[in-house]
Amino acid sequence: MAKITKTRFAPSPTGIMHIGNLRSALYEYLIARSEGGKFLLRIEDTDRERYVEGAVEAIYRTLDVCGLHHDEGPDIGGPNGPYVQSERLHLYSEYADQLVASGHAYPCFCSVERLADMWEDEETEFIGYDRRCRDIDPAIAAHRVAAGEPHVIRQRMPLDGETTFSDEVYGVITVMNQELEDQILIKSDGYPTYNFANVIDDHLMEITHVVRGSEYLSSTPKYCILYDAFGWEIPTFVHLPLIVGEDGKKLSKRHGSTSFEELVKDGYLPEAIINMIAFLGWAPGGETREIFSLDELEKIFSAKGINKAPAVFAYDKLNWMNEQYIRRLPFEKWRAMVKEIADPLFDEKKYDVDTLAHVLRERVTKLSDIPEMIRFLTERLPYERELFFNKRAKLDADSASVILNELRPKLETVAVWDETTLSALLGQACEETGRKKGQVMGALRVALAAQRVTSGGATETAMILGREEALARLAAAIDYLKG
Ligand code: GLU
Repeated sequence: MAKITKTRFAPSPTGIMHIGNLRSALYEYLIARSEGGKFLLRIEDTDRERYVEGAVEAIYRTLDVCGLHHDEGPDIGGPNGPYVQSERLHLYSEYADQLVASGHAYPCFCSVERLADMWEDEETEFIGYDRRCRDIDPAIAAHRVAAGEPHVIRQRMPLDGETTFSDEVYGVITVMNQELEDQILIKSDGYPTYNFANVIDDHLMEITHVVRGSEYLSSTPKYCILYDAFGWEIPTFVHLPLIVGEDGKKLSKRHGSTSFEELVKDGYLPEAIINMIAFLGWAPGGETREIFSLDELEKIFSAKGINKAPAVFAYDKLNWMNEQYIRRLPFEKWRAMVKEIADPLFDEKKYDVDTLAHVLRERVTKLSDIPEMIRFLTERLPYERELFFNKRAKLDADSASVILNELRPKLETVAVWDETTLSALLGQACEETGRKKGQVMGALRVALAAQRVTSGGATETAMILGREEALARLAAAIDYLKG
């Protein structure tokens, strides 16, 4: 029976969820789902110095908001738990002991000071540990360990030959074994290094596809040697390309927000962010379409479509995607989002949220733009005579004053303040006075908004503001233009 595909997201709780972490999670999730497999979550918390309070919660929150639900993990358990590395320490030391016994690893007693001196010594050619403890007689080493001498456990790399492995994205890679450092497997505090724990856990958790950033590519030969030392099957490796900004440099704060939560705060919808991230190194074959829901991605994603060329994170593209997602949201959902942002800005004042949501839907790029876009509605801005000047509509402050005085008594008679009534009334006003619609609407719009460019026209603005506020603004404009 063919093995069921199993992937894992293995974040270290050392800070916020970067775009790169989320891409790993997404691709791991999609590979599992597209093959009817399982996706698990493992928390890699063995680096105690870099542990950040709250980081684990941010991981759960992000996965949940993005819809990347796992099948096994610390919170829901599963057949291969525990899923937090700090709860698995006994396992790592058992497996390390096995390697020491079989000669694939050895205790190293070098002090931190000695290692630091060694690296400072420019004569040392080998960039890494000089393997001093490698040849200590195993019986003597065991004795020193038993006596409680501080030590680490290092991997004993073969000194000749080469190691070859195949990566789904980067192809066949071969390295000379003599270039591989005798890396630390267990630190002096008894915690495993990532380099050791990832191999043990991926094997015990039956991971078939190890998907991660390409920064781990150069260490992968060492992991292969570990798998071989245990006689374990080597999983399929899928290393993901570097993410760069539009200048080709590694994506960083200089380019813009680089974490999921920052992007959400900037006003991007999680669905748009996920869609954007899906394309950071992958593209569906034979398709030019770029908008895909998570459900759709689950069906068509394949590791075969991953490219090793650096993936460009273009904020303009994200803006475009976000607009697409906003336009496609069910209206009720969009209305609720607008309301949540607008309510506190309108304070206690009444406003027409339906019309506001309609007006904004075709115009908003990101949610965080909304407060500034609607400032003319939530606040009364000062008038200026030039605002009324519009050459094409043949409008200026003086003609506007006349028009507004004509409109005011008519508008004051309106009892049902809705689109049908207002449009009919304004149309009728144009007919009666023989004025162009652009002129009348232009004057009214600026009177209501005190701003030259507005999202929405005069009728919509009047509706959003409501009868009382609209009439008050009209009166204020007339008053201003008088002076
Ligand atoms: N804990 C590692 C990280 O956060 C995981 C790398 C991997 O997926 O193997 O970078």
